[in-house]
Amino acid sequence: MPSPIKDIRFTLHDVLNFSDHYAALGLNHQVDADLINMVLDEASRFAQAELEPINAAGDQGCVLADGVVTTPPGFKEAYRKYISTGWAGLCGEAEYGGQALPEAFGFMLEEICCTANMAWTMYPGLSRGCIAALSEHGSAEQKSRFLPRLLTGEWTGTMCLTEPHAGSDVGLARTQASLQADGTYRIAGTKIFISAGEHDMADNIVHLVLARTPDAPGGTRGISMFVVPKINLDGTRNAVKCGNIEEKMGIHGNSTCELLFEDAVGYLVGEENNGMRYMFTMMNAARLAVGLQGVSVAQAAYNRASEYARERLQMRALSGPKAPDKVADPIIWHPDVRRLLLTQRAIIEGGRTLVYYVAQLVERTSHAPDEDSRENAQLQLDFLTPIAKALLTELGFESANLAVQTFGGHGFIREAGVEQYVRDLRITLLYEGTTGIQALDLVGRKMLGNQGAGLQAFGDFMLAVADEAEVEFPDMADKLRGLHEDWARISMEIGGRAMQDPEEVGAASVDYLFYSGYVVLAVFWTKIALAGRQHEHADYGASKVDIARFYFARVLPRTRAHELAMASGAGNLMQVGELAFTA
Ligand SMILES: Cc1cc2nc3c(=O)[nH]c(=O)nc-3n(C[C@H](O)[C@H](O)[C@H](O)COP(=O)(O)OP(=O)(O)OC[C@H]3O[C@@H](n4cnc5c(N)ncnc54)[C@H](O)[C@@H]3O)c2cc1C
Repeated sequence: MPSPIKDIRFTLHDVLNFSDHYAALGLNHQVDADLINMVLDEASRFAQAELEPINAAGDQGCVLADGVVTTPPGFKEAYRKYISTGWAGLCGEAEYGGQALPEAFGFMLEEICCTANMAWTMYPGLSRGCIAALSEHGSAEQKSRFLPRLLTGEWTGTMCLTEPHAGSDVGLARTQASLQADGTYRIAGTKIFISAGEHDMADNIVHLVLARTPDAPGGTRGISMFVVPKINLDGTRNAVKCGNIEEKMGIHGNSTCELLFEDAVGYLVGEENNGMRYMFTMMNAARLAVGLQGVSVAQAAYNRASEYARERLQMRALSGPKAPDKVADPIIWHPDVRRLLLTQRAIIEGGRTLVYYVAQLVERTSHAPDEDSRENAQLQLDFLTPIAKALLTELGFESANLAVQTFGGHGFIREAGVEQYVRDLRITLLYEGTTGIQALDLVGRKMLGNQGAGLQAFGDFMLAVADEAEVEFPDMADKLRGLHEDWARISMEIGGRAMQDPEEVGAASVDYLFYSGYVVLAVFWTKIALAGRQHEHADYGASKVDIARFYFARVLPRTRAHELAMASGAGNLMQVGELAFTA
């Protein structure tokens, strides 16, 4: 299956102009368009040769026997090749053996690998989160002990938050940490659903564990973070073991483990009771990575659907035969099949542009030369992170479902190779905070919590895009300006209603997230159309303009339904009698 290299290049070079971006950050001596292309090509070669061929086999799942988890055939070998070519350290700090490339390079690698094989890509993906948290919050000693091996990939990482009774509400976690005379802690408790918690691909696994010390305050204010290696620094086995692996709906190739910490040796990261803050370093990066999973797997499903729609012959086109020499026309001639395919394209390419725009924001927050630009990037980043996570997983899932629909009944049959994408993608709407939790974060903290500053920062960018489009696409420019006003008005209305009744926040939240998400994608589809107009290959560029027009005409109007739902208020949810909820 082709990797979406051409479209990724278009997004990076033509739509988002990464060369100018790096020049503005003063990084152009280190990274340029050639390096981007080289990384894309090499990553694609690796993914096509090593990951894609083992994706279907990965569906048979991991096996736990005597505490040892065996990954599906080929997973271990592919991981060995991955680390032998240095991919694990692509964005890591040079001091610890990393190649210190900017964060967007990690997104590129992740996208290409995930399109080929999501379950496999989660193993190195978890390590990247662990590396980010230790780089930012670990002590010098912890960094020098753990980072070098994580960056070679000899060791992998995990994030251990969830407990049986503590899911979205991490503050309910009960895992205990007690300080020992030698300054280490003993960690005791059970974590569940830990991705890559145990496997046979690496020599050691570095668990980042949330736990509470005996006198810690309740809730998230009493959570601390600990590094708990599977193998102790002296080479002995630490007291952490895998009690069970879950039977799941998808991503069978990735082990989802119950981990039992039985007075395991742990090392405090940073200060006690600050664990949630540190974990957010990992979670924010992970949320963007999960949004990218939505786009990547949707792309894999689309690749199959578009190929199939050209080959499958069923019925004649409404306007007369398109393939008169055949028994029927390819289904791609039917308007509804085009709707299916173009909706997928609109989601994938708009979503990809959002992800790489966010990657630029991440890079601006740390590399922009002036304080104002860093602050502006941080505001936009905070505001867009829950949108990117929730919207792109929800729409990515919709997109993969539409790919199955394109296949008709054959899509439901395993042999067609498309239903696995739907099952694999389903988890992305749940982990790293469900859509409901992202929406609460967006409305409560990122919009109302900072008096709309994030919305305003992105709104300024939106108006700049409208100005850019004024001459070539005046209709799109007008639409963006109208949406800019409506978005601000709707946000104010929710704020006003929330002052009367706090339930209004939760009642509006998911619709607000979708509304915002469709508006955000309209901004990026305008940018895509502009880049399409300039493209050296006129046909390729024109196809981007066509999809942009499709997005504005057939997807963006969904905002209206979300607006009406928000305006209806909390009463139709909270004043509903008990009986309406009985089974
Ligand atoms: C395959 C898989 C891999 C995972 N990997 C990891 C991992 O590596 N590390 C880790 O720590 N965890 C991991 N998880 C756990 C995952 O992050 C949680 O399952 C998820 O955060 C939701 O928690 P929960 O399942 O307990 O659901 P709950 O929190 O019980 O939520 C149930 C429902 O209630 C809603 N809800 C809850 N509170 C609110 C609220 N205040 N407002 C509105 N709606 C609300 C939720 O949106 C959801 O719809 C994984 C889970 C799975 C299935």
